[in-house]
Amino acid sequence: MLDTLNVNLGARSYPIHFAEDLSGEVKLQVEALGAASRRVAVVTDRNVATIQAATLQRLFGNAPSLIVPPGEESKSVAELGRVLDFLADEGLDRSGAVFAVGGGVVGDLAGFAAASYLRGVDYYQVPTTLLAMVDSSVGGKTGVNLKAGKNLAGAFHQPRGVFIATGFLKLLPPREFAAGMAEVIKSALLGDRLLFGDLERAPLAVGDLRLAWTVRVCCGLKARLVEADERELAEGGGRALLNLGHTFGHAIEQVTGYGTYLHGEAVAVGLCAAARLSLRLGLIGQAEVARVERVVGSHFLPTRLRVPLAIDALMAAMAHDKKARAGRLRFIVLEALGAAAVRRDVPPAEVEAVWREVGCA
Ligand code: ADP
Ligand code: ZN
Repeated sequence: MLDTLNVNLGARSYPIHFAEDLSGEVKLQVEALGAASRRVAVVTDRNVATIQAATLQRLFGNAPSLIVPPGEESKSVAELGRVLDFLADEGLDRSGAVFAVGGGVVGDLAGFAAASYLRGVDYYQVPTTLLAMVDSSVGGKTGVNLKAGKNLAGAFHQPRGVFIATGFLKLLPPREFAAGMAEVIKSALLGDRLLFGDLERAPLAVGDLRLAWTVRVCCGLKARLVEADERELAEGGGRALLNLGHTFGHAIEQVTGYGTYLHGEAVAVGLCAAARLSLRLGLIGQAEVARVERVVGSHFLPTRLRVPLAIDALMAAMAHDKKARAGRLRFIVLEALGAAAVRRDVPPAEVEAVWREVGCA
């Protein structure tokens, strides 16, 4: 039975399909587009194209495909240009549709290309990493990085459908799986204490029977937050809560240069930092901080910086974060393990103290 969750956004609503294998469903979608004389183009990365060559051939036949280099560097303006030229060269018109097959990098890049090509064409997400399945493929945030910071150019552009086939995870490198778990732990912390308890009882691994359920829970939580606050405008929280751990995490990525920490690894340290900040603000206790660190650590993720970084550089990176408004930082804090809130009044001295606690010199 096909398990489907709907993201309800009026005219921009779309289904998220879940199964171990969704080849049949994706193929049907591709054929339906073809039958309507709509051109299909595929964007993927070198690793996925190699590892999943047979699957891609089965799903997309000889539809034109662009293979980008793997890794965060491909989320660049230069690569965006290549995707746009590819769509133009393949003759896509406004009825064309793009399939993003890969991790968050491919999804964000191809999604932004679909958002801007001819002022917007349809696209479908076929996430192949855990991180993309539980986070980036749902919600319509697309974009690329600039030298000045992560995701500084982008657009909201909802996909027409998301196909989450957990079978893709079988060949995902363990480090990438762990990085995806950081977003799972994030989801649990900000809105699902049952999921947090489940991860606490036993760490989740590839092949675990709980995996499909976990991915679905994360998508459900994200879908509800996106429905309530599609463009992250709500004052009291809403979609912004999904940035738990990210103000710290983005600063780590920015200061170390992309590649040293995977996004999920930086977020893992960020989650521990956010817990420590919440303790300093009197919202949770030391025991809760210890529980967060234990769950993060038990999923093979860092709880502290691997090597000390300069606090000044981290604070400067935070000030550049696009979520900072009028020089004021925005932090997502924990009120309990399973409930988060937005705070804009955090004294910089507390943030600096947290950076020292997670390993700054
Ligand atoms: P993320 O999804 O975490 O944002 P990426 O898009 O960079 O990150 O994907 C992480 C890495 O995993 C990349 O090197 C990518 O090529 C590789 N990858 C993606 N999907 C799979 C898969 N199903 N099996 C093996 N490797 C994969
Ligand atoms: Zn993230």
